[in-house]
Amino acid sequence: NNNTKEKEKYYICISRLSRGNLIGEGEFASVFEGTLLNTDNSNTKVAIKTLRQEQLDNEEAFLSEARVMINLNHHCIVKLLGICIGPPLQMIQELVPLGSILQYIDTHSTEINPNYEFKIWAAQIACGMQYLEENRFVHRDLAARNILLASKLQAKISDFGLSRALGTGHEYYRALRGGKWPLKWYAPESYNYGQFSNKSDVWSFGVTIWEMYSFGAAPYGDKKGAEAIKLIDNGQRLEQPAACPDNIFEMMLKCWAMNSDDRPSFSELVEFFNSGSEYTNIK
Ligand code: ADP
Repeated sequence: NNNTKEKEKYYICISRLSRGNLIGEGEFASVFEGTLLNTDNSNTKVAIKTLRQEQLDNEEAFLSEARVMINLNHHCIVKLLGICIGPPLQMIQELVPLGSILQYIDTHSTEINPNYEFKIWAAQIACGMQYLEENRFVHRDLAARNILLASKLQAKISDFGLSRALGTGHEYYRALRGGKWPLKWYAPESYNYGQFSNKSDVWSFGVTIWEMYSFGAAPYGDKKGAEAIKLIDNGQRLEQPAACPDNIFEMMLKCWAMNSDDRPSFSELVEFFNSGSEYTNIK
């Protein structure tokens, strides 16, 4: 039937792929640069994501992430081109060549103007998140390490969908990260009650742009997740980074409102960071 045909077009035969250098490693995946041979004999440079050896029993989660990603099509979200069932099982994604914003900030800090690049990236992350929200999708792991750069002026959201695809975020993190939840990015209702929503993503967005304006500093420094939670529950918040203008810090504080209804929406955030410019349309 049509549905099956639709799905088949996302399967990529292993003979059309050649794998190059390792370009990144995460908690559960290894990512390689590669080349995809297209049906018209042209080539496309791609990123090939595979499960790490010790994570091979997480194949179902890996496939679930792919099932969600394949339906997303937005210039501020890393595009999944297809999957190759291998073995090994591989996700073929658009190649986002400059790596994560954390890596980029680390190596290019002197070339960055916070009032330009950071604002553009923030607008683009908010724009991708607005699209996710419109498609009724919750990211649950928004953090600077998961924002990749296609160019200096194009940020893309990556590494999402897994927690959602598994059903309950808690089990995912317990299973996958050995109990190491990204608590410092979590909204209070997420770490207290396991509730995730677009508004808990807004909280994580606040932490993500805080990392950016802090030039890659770790939120809450060396503190453990449990200690960071205590600070939040006592009404404390991350401090204003030196490079962060007052109005942007005020917006971060709004993202960290205890009551999720008091946080801004992603469309408000897009408007705020675009502020008269059209950053989200830079391609
Ligand atoms: P994990 O899901 O295990 O956390 P990630 O998706 O974060 O793995 O990938 C690990 C690293 O690989 C990233 O930090 C990034 O540097 C690199 N990477 C991931 N996806 C791509 C991509 N599409 N293009 C280029 N590099 C990528």
